[in-house]
This record gives sequence, C-alpha cells and structure tokens, in this order.
Amino acid sequence: MLLQSQASQLTELLGLPEAKVEDMTIIDGVGVFFVIRSTRRDAECPRCGKRSRHLHTNNGYDIEDLPWNDQSVVLRVNRRQFWCEGCGEVFSEELVFVNKRRLYTKRLANQIVGQVLGSSIRSVAARTGMSEDQIETMLKDAGEAYLLETPEGLKYLGIDEIAVVKGQGKYYGVLVNLETH
Ligand SMILES: [Zn+2]
Repeated sequence: MLLQSQASQLTELLGLPEAKVEDMTIIDGVGVFFVIRSTRRDAECPRCGKRSRHLHTNNGYDIEDLPWNDQSVVLRVNRRQFWCEGCGEVFSEELVFVNKRRLYTKRLANQIVGQVLGSSIRSVAARTGMSEDQIETMLKDAGEAYLLETPEGLKYLGIDEIAVVKGQGKYYGVLVNLETH
C-alpha cells in the first residue's frame, strides 16, 4: 500500500475530479493500474432524486484512462450501489469522470474524438488500440453532449468531415466554432 503522502501526490497527478488514489501498480509491458475511489459520500437516486448514503454493495470495475508515456492506464474503480430511502430502490452511483455505461474516462474519449478530427476512425483505432466501434460510440456521445448546448455568440463556423473508413465514402459532418474550437 501507498503512504498517505504518496497517495495524495498520485491523486493530484492523476487529476480526476472527485476521485482519490488508494493504490498503484506498474506492470511491465502491460500498463499502470490505479485503484481509486470516489470522494463523494453519497449519490443521487436516478429514480426519485434523493441523495443517499446507505451503501448497499461495492462493485469494482476497470476503466481505461489517458495513456501515460505510451503506457496504458487502467483505473480500478469502486462503483458503489446505494439503497435509496426515498423510493426503496438500489441504484449504482454515477462517477463524474465516466459517461454512463462506458468503460473509459470522458477525457480519454475527448482526446480520441480530437484525434479523429483531421484523421480517420480507422487510423486512430490502429494508433490507439481502440476498436472502430468504440470510437464511433465516442463520436456519438460527443455529438449528443454538444447538441445539449445552444450555440451563442457564434461568429465563425467551420465545416469539416471525418472519414469513417478512408476511401469508402462514409463521413461524419463536423461543425466547429472556430473561435473556441
Ligand atoms: Zn429513490
């Protein structure tokens, strides 16, 4: 186990919101593994909106994060289930750095979506080791997140396309606010 001071340094280095590093292991040629936990003591019930602190079960699962110096980074997260005293349901907490039902961090998805702009899904898949399906899902998630925003004060609009597979005529259209990217 890590010393308290090492754990807080690693927490700072990892820089994920509402997450604390508890342990870290480096496996040569495989990657860096962090054990992290949420710093929140409660979670909001998706059904009735009441916040609960009644822990029901612990559930460890692995999510992929941004690579460090070409090494894979895997986060073992305890995604707790809580019992809601409002409606009696058991629910899983949401973690602010992972989208629902995804096994990678939001910031990894953002980085990959950024790489696809100006490239193709296939070449980013080859470079990162993600599957083309995973990357398509990331693009769809990014699209949905942006659709929630109403563009305001838009002055310069850029239009670009991303080839799903280069040379096969399937494209995503991308609209970019050129001032804010
Ligand atoms: Zn509830």
